[in-house]
Amino acid sequence: MIYLDNAATTKPCEECRRAVAETMENTFGNASSLHKAGTASLMLISRARAAVLRGMSLGKTRLSGEVLFTSGATESNNTALLGANLRGGRIVTTAIEHPSQARIIDKLEERGHEVVRLSPKDHDDFESAIVNAVDEKTALVSCMAVNNETGFCVDIRRLYNAVKAKNPKTLVHIDAVQGFLKMPLDGDLISVSGHKIHATKGIGALYIKKGVTLSPLLLGGGQQKNLRSGTEPVELIAGLEAAINAYEYKRELFERLRAALLGGLSEIPDIRINSGEGCLPNIVNFSVRGVRSEIMLHSLEEADICVSSGSACSKGKTSGVLSAFGVSDKDADCAVRVSMCSDNTEEEIALLCEKIAQTVKSVRR
Ligand code: PMP
Repeated sequence: MIYLDNAATTKPCEECRRAVAETMENTFGNASSLHKAGTASLMLISRARAAVLRGMSLGKTRLSGEVLFTSGATESNNTALLGANLRGGRIVTTAIEHPSQARIIDKLEERGHEVVRLSPKDHDDFESAIVNAVDEKTALVSCMAVNNETGFCVDIRRLYNAVKAKNPKTLVHIDAVQGFLKMPLDGDLISVSGHKIHATKGIGALYIKKGVTLSPLLLGGGQQKNLRSGTEPVELIAGLEAAINAYEYKRELFERLRAALLGGLSEIPDIRINSGEGCLPNIVNFSVRGVRSEIMLHSLEEADICVSSGSACSKGKTSGVLSAFGVSDKDADCAVRVSMCSDNTEEEIALLCEKIAQTVKSVRR
């Protein structure tokens, strides 16, 4: 199988699989238990917290605060946005967010918050547009580090500093699912997910900057300093730690693969590239005009190639995110997303291009 859908999920790496199995065998205690099995789990969790902080900083920012382990970024986003004290204030966000953020912002709007949603298509400098939208009434800026459909990214550390310079009281929440380990991060609240970085599904984290208070979403036994009740899944946490430690973002490899893909696509007439300047090279979104996404996906599947239309989370429906990038509805209907990991090769990309060209020939006839 040629797997090119790494923005939907990644294969757990060997280091992760080994760590999960070893932890199930040897470190299965409940981290709240006072005996030695419990202490061993507690120590493992605290080591993993340090790994998450290191991964978010990537050696550039010094992040200090709490790291909560959650079931994934959907829970991290819910915990951050529903738990933050927003005092009824104004919210600045974007029209390209993942549904696990966007649906919560919709809810907050229904509850009376004023919401400003910015689209990249309306601004040459999107980062400045976000900062310019912040005023003295703005309680929250919530935006993603890297868009899951196109790879479009924002310099999060610069954004964070600029928002704070404009209004130090504004909370900054970053959905960093697709940016984690690929760029240094900063924020008051940062959501990440394990299954996008070769750990397992069912584990994510939320960073909470020192001094930021949150009301918990999950009540119960008071685990994780009362911020997220529930017995910590120590084996999944160990897998996350191992995946973080093993991860290496091979930017040059992705640039080579992207160049090969764009080169191959340029030989096929009438293709629009939807991932432009300012996108990470591991995600490439394009529209093959005249061939609907589903048709292309199924044709590629016959050749054992897995790609995606838009994002897997929108289950084939166009999400509206591409239109915020200026892609027409017609082109969005024909969108294909190729998202790579460091196991992918130029040979795989060549096979993909060959199969796309064949499909185009047979469908566009
Ligand atoms: N945010 C973004 C940008 C994502 O790509 C995803 C996963 N597609 C999520 C949030 C949700 O993450 P999870 O699957 O861990 O709940």
